Amino acid sequence: MDGITQRTPRPDGVFPRRTVAHVATDAAIGRTFDYAIPPELAASVGPGSLVRVEFGRRQIDALVLDVSDRSAHPGALKPVLGAAAGKPWLSAALIKLARWMSSYYLAPIELCLKIMLPPVVRDGTREDGFKRRLVVRRARGSAAAKPATARQREILERLGDGEENVAGFCKAWGVSPPTLRKMAAAGLAEIFEKVERRDPLAGRRVLPSRPLPLTGEQAAALALVRAACDAPADGPPPRPVLIRGVTASGKTEVYLQAIAGELAAGRGAIVLVPEIALTPQTIQRFAARFGNTVAVLHSQLGAGERHDEWARIRSGEARVVVGPRSALFAPVERLGLIVVDEEHEPSYKQDETPRYNARDTAVVRARFEHCAVVLGSATPSLESWRNAQDGKYALATMTRRAVGEAQLPRTVVVDMRGEAAKAEGKLPVFSETLVQAVRRRLELGEQTMLFLNRRGYAPTVTCPSCGHREECSECSVPMTWHRDDGVLRCHVCGAFRSPPRRCPACGCPDYRYGGVGTQRVEAVARRLFPGASVERMDLDVTTRKSSHEEILDRFRAGKTDILVGTQMIAKGLDFPNVTLAGILNADAGLAVPDFRAAERTFQLVAQMAGRTGRGLRPGDVIVQTLSPDEPAIRLAAREDYEAFARGELAERLELCYPPFAHLHCATFRSGNREAAAAAAARFAAAVGRSERYLLGDAAPAAVEKAKGLWRFQVVLRGPDPAALLERLRAALAATAAAAERDRVSVSVDVDAVGAF
Ligand code: ADP
Ligand code: ZN
Repeated sequence: MDGITQRTPRPDGVFPRRTVAHVATDAAIGRTFDYAIPPELAASVGPGSLVRVEFGRRQIDALVLDVSDRSAHPGALKPVLGAAAGKPWLSAALIKLARWMSSYYLAPIELCLKIMLPPVVRDGTREDGFKRRLVVRRARGSAAAKPATARQREILERLGDGEENVAGFCKAWGVSPPTLRKMAAAGLAEIFEKVERRDPLAGRRVLPSRPLPLTGEQAAALALVRAACDAPADGPPPRPVLIRGVTASGKTEVYLQAIAGELAAGRGAIVLVPEIALTPQTIQRFAARFGNTVAVLHSQLGAGERHDEWARIRSGEARVVVGPRSALFAPVERLGLIVVDEEHEPSYKQDETPRYNARDTAVVRARFEHCAVVLGSATPSLESWRNAQDGKYALATMTRRAVGEAQLPRTVVVDMRGEAAKAEGKLPVFSETLVQAVRRRLELGEQTMLFLNRRGYAPTVTCPSCGHREECSECSVPMTWHRDDGVLRCHVCGAFRSPPRRCPACGCPDYRYGGVGTQRVEAVARRLFPGASVERMDLDVTTRKSSHEEILDRFRAGKTDILVGTQMIAKGLDFPNVTLAGILNADAGLAVPDFRAAERTFQLVAQMAGRTGRGLRPGDVIVQTLSPDEPAIRLAAREDYEAFARGELAERLELCYPPFAHLHCATFRSGNREAAAAAAARFAAAVGRSERYLLGDAAPAAVEKAKGLWRFQVVLRGPDPAALLERLRAALAATAAAAERDRVSVSVDVDAVGAF
């Protein structure tokens, strides 16, 4: 493709007229097509234009990637039939970014373009997706007629000088729409359509906020960001800035002031936050500072809202975009700054094609746009940390909390082996230390958050006489008992069934409900603290759109003393009255078969610490564990990120894991176990051994069967990304036909994040 897009000037130095459009369309994956640009469309077709073309016997929309004066296509080209008016839908930098993603993440370019230009936005180009409503107002100017009847006079009085929604006005005053229309025809009133913005922030009262005087650490961080923002346009792109700032050190305030500087310079900004942290609280902080120039994109927006927010960004009305990973592709013109908050979050990785990491892709977009990029975290990913150590990134460190004297929380590690010994070998849900600490909070009227990484009541259901375990029939995982609705539920596929009366293997009538889930923590907490109000927040109680917010509102208002929950409560919440955070089983995360397990556990402890003591009173964190000597737990308790990173990096270097290597994972899925295993083995053989990388054997995935499909994996890692990608491409090409024949689906996860 690159071969045909080059343009040679004629001897007189003028480019020939670009007569060929190279387009991509999701009607055909993995290929681009050439169409002839008719002279009358020459002015409106360029890179990034949306065009209408004939494809087979259909007419479809396609996106122009490039225009040139030649085509590698041998025959005559079909003409472009039409082009969407206005400026291009994707900038040159975004097209370049899509190409980079397509090549780096081994994803078809159409799918990369599709996330940049979602269908709802594209559809808007044809029918213009705005919502309109009819409004009525009094006729103005000299042409306005005089009312002929008392009724008409009355209606005009009610209309006053404003505009009224036709439907609402008619309903409120008992006027029929034909009456209004007659008045309009008589020149008494005007009825017209008005575009109505569907505003995701509507109905929220946002009080404006002003920039706060910065602490010394904040000022230093801001200076680093400003320097990157002001990098000269003709020099090299600025270095990315990593801000390592403990929770509540005021990173967000630094972002806000950096963005304000960009707006003042006529540039725009994109702020990425993990979806789970995209709470009304977060959105309001940006809206309070920047008002209407903020656009919010998140997954719960309706199609209409998304279209309208997109249109506001495209028109330049909104200059600051806040959203989860896909907001990275917002068409902000004159982009000055990209912020990736909580840059270590695994949710920045998309788990379907294109499997991009928004943090890494943000760094690349910033390079293409020649703009600044800031990565912020209390516990940076080791990838970013190493880049900062190597000087590839500029580093700002914020070690103190911003508010008054707010101190970092004290962390106590409770050795649960001792607790079990005290209780005749039975592991209690709450240690004595935790019970005491919660009691004290209840006496003081302060609040507690309790974290457990498992929902349901009992995660394993086992027969006491034969050891039979209830597993999902479609997935190779045990079923979790949910006491709320009395069913066994699979957390991989969602299947549920009522628990069998007798063990299906041996007929024994009892089952043992083992392990601890959030429902059980909630039940135990109610028993241990009878006067307290306890609430639970996890996927099971937040399936309704608003219940998540309702639970948090009650907690914020102090109606809840103890909030039990999963990841949902660990991230980004800011409640000044929370002075105790408990992690009930810190070992659960360490047991995961992922080389990042220690890093994730460290992050979790730090995050929970970040939820406490955000007001004026100091906070406590209690970590219950069976392995108190694990560095991830010991060093997290001391908030010693640098020591943790040093030890962990040494280990990763020795074992050749990221950040010293890239790690890619190919997954083979099939309803037939042997077919999946064979495809993985064929693929590994096609990659071949080499000194340049480490190739793992084809092996079952951590969850071997999910949703009825068997999964086998091949992991490839090594320091040279180009060499790895070359081998992956070659092996994919060599084995595609056999995989298709055997109905095995193949996906390659470049820079994989997650369990292995
Ligand atoms: P982070 O993003 O690092 O978690 P925040 O920006 O949310 O930290 O700041 C934590 C709290 O401190 C917020 O309530 C914020 O309003 C307040 N804060 C931040 N910077 C300052 C400052 N310079 N002076 C006073 N309060 C501040
Ligand atoms: Zn299942």
